[in-house]
Amino acid sequence: MCGIFAYAGTENAAPLLIDGLRAVEYRGYDSAGISVIDSSGAIKTIKRGDHKASLENLSSEVSGGELAGVVGIGHTRWATHGLVNQQNSHPHESISGVVSIAHNGIIENFIELKDELVDTGVQFKSETDSEVLAHLVGHSVASGTSLREAVIGASSRIKGNTAVVAVSTAEPDIVVGLRIGNAGGIVVGKNDHAAVMASDTIALLPYTSEVIYLEPGEVVEIRKDGVQLFDLEGSSISRDAVVTVQNFEAAQKGNHPHFMSKEIAEEPDAVQAAMRGRADFANGTISLPEISLTLDQIRSIDRVILTGMGTSMHTGMFGASVIESIARIPSVCENSSELRYRNPVLNSKTLVIAMTQSGETADTLAAIEYARQAGALQGVILEMEGSQATRVADFTLGVKAGQEICVASTKTMIASMMTLLELAVFLGQARGVIDANRVKEIVSQMAELPSLISTALDLNDEITALADRLCKYEDLLYLGRGAQLPMALEGALKMKEIAYIHAEGNPAGEMKHGMNALLGPGMATIVCAPQNDLYPKMLSNISEVKARGGEVIAIVSENDETIERVADHVIRVPECPELLQPFVTLIPLQILAYRTALALDRDPDKPRNLAKTVTVE
Ligand code: GLU
Repeated sequence: MCGIFAYAGTENAAPLLIDGLRAVEYRGYDSAGISVIDSSGAIKTIKRGDHKASLENLSSEVSGGELAGVVGIGHTRWATHGLVNQQNSHPHESISGVVSIAHNGIIENFIELKDELVDTGVQFKSETDSEVLAHLVGHSVASGTSLREAVIGASSRIKGNTAVVAVSTAEPDIVVGLRIGNAGGIVVGKNDHAAVMASDTIALLPYTSEVIYLEPGEVVEIRKDGVQLFDLEGSSISRDAVVTVQNFEAAQKGNHPHFMSKEIAEEPDAVQAAMRGRADFANGTISLPEISLTLDQIRSIDRVILTGMGTSMHTGMFGASVIESIARIPSVCENSSELRYRNPVLNSKTLVIAMTQSGETADTLAAIEYARQAGALQGVILEMEGSQATRVADFTLGVKAGQEICVASTKTMIASMMTLLELAVFLGQARGVIDANRVKEIVSQMAELPSLISTALDLNDEITALADRLCKYEDLLYLGRGAQLPMALEGALKMKEIAYIHAEGNPAGEMKHGMNALLGPGMATIVCAPQNDLYPKMLSNISEVKARGGEVIAIVSENDETIERVADHVIRVPECPELLQPFVTLIPLQILAYRTALALDRDPDKPRNLAKTVTVE
């Protein structure tokens, strides 16, 4: 899940490595480190294991300019094996000091390899799995093997998905990168003075907008005047660079204090972007040219399984509810790490839709691969172009929200929800279960959504006062029914992720089957209850919480006249058709988590123990 950045060029590498790491830091911030080949041809490594302060501290340490050299590698870590401290920080040098590596992923057989290396006299300096790679590569290089062959040879010994970059004193002008399986990608680019590689395109944009995505089982050598790709047999591969649509400026915080507040503020635009080119507001139609399935295939679908993890799973739950209600296809959403291991019955009539913001989530990629092997139709809904998922599935729908940096997903969720709504309408149309008038009606409702979301964003101040109240609780409960249930689950997830308050989302009807035992003054309840057929049931649930002494915050429609009689605090979201209600109730839930995190002095952009891109299982 880490961030990797490597540079081979004509300028002093250390500050450029730090800049590159800043761009990929969202992937992991347990530690940070760089290795540079200095002017004497030796490897110099500096690393810090100060958790969130690592990169800043590293930056101060190298700012003196003592670390001179034009080739180097850098790493920001999300620890899987070994504590968060300096010795476990990457890069790791081989005992001979001839090689330094930075690794992303998990080496599943590292204990076996470590024992083997220890038997040959290697003394390990860290507790990480990654260090075995340093020694395996180092041994080969010390005995005269080229760095590329040494990295390939070492990678053939390890089990598990891996991305690795390596430098060597024997070939001081190059950096070698290798990717096996789905652990985080490696993207490569070059300009006239340098070649670079990183875990994410965003780090390459100061150099070039033309990039090459390394496929699993590929190796790359970068040097100041070029990039060369190979397969694991050592044969050269030729691949044209593609022009990325990612934008460096858009991935900066601008005037916002945090990426999270910036990304929440961008939600009206994100939804708009997800409709662009798909919703025709003049004619009231939806088209999804990206879907290459034939009409016969679409009509043969008898089941849709949406799959994702975390926020993507909640988005998938929303998707299942709209696909079932609009396209009338039985639809469920399932956690990817469960789906892939439970031997599900899938066939050519099943459409499996993977939800993955990064396109790199290991379990979700494995689930879609499982679906492919089982002969199911597969679709992917994702934000990151060029990622592994797009190359695996039958069709890909980009959500077009623009890159999201904050670990806690906000705008990607809302744009993905819009994409799923469009997909539901598209499938319903193709299967002939909704007529042109109904499509027109939905499209005209969708057109209102950006401004409805903008209005919901104005609730910021009111919510700040409520966040101050929530700070004192250790337990929170979120309730919803129907399409509001995934929103309640998402509200609870956001609160856990960034405010570190224990929060549970529950179907409101489930309360009497257990949760009621926990109600009382020690737990506040946040209820999603906009005006719809389920509203009277929600009112009863609120009363039940109140009767047991619990404080209630209700998120309701603007013109609700009853709610003040039962709830302690009320957040009013704009009136809108029921289909759009989940979009507008989601906004205050996100803001509430953000404001509570700030009130508790937590950094919402860097939640502890979490990373944006979950490339390990
Ligand atoms: N498994 C390695 C470690 O714990 C790499 C983790 C990562 O991908 O950041 O150090």
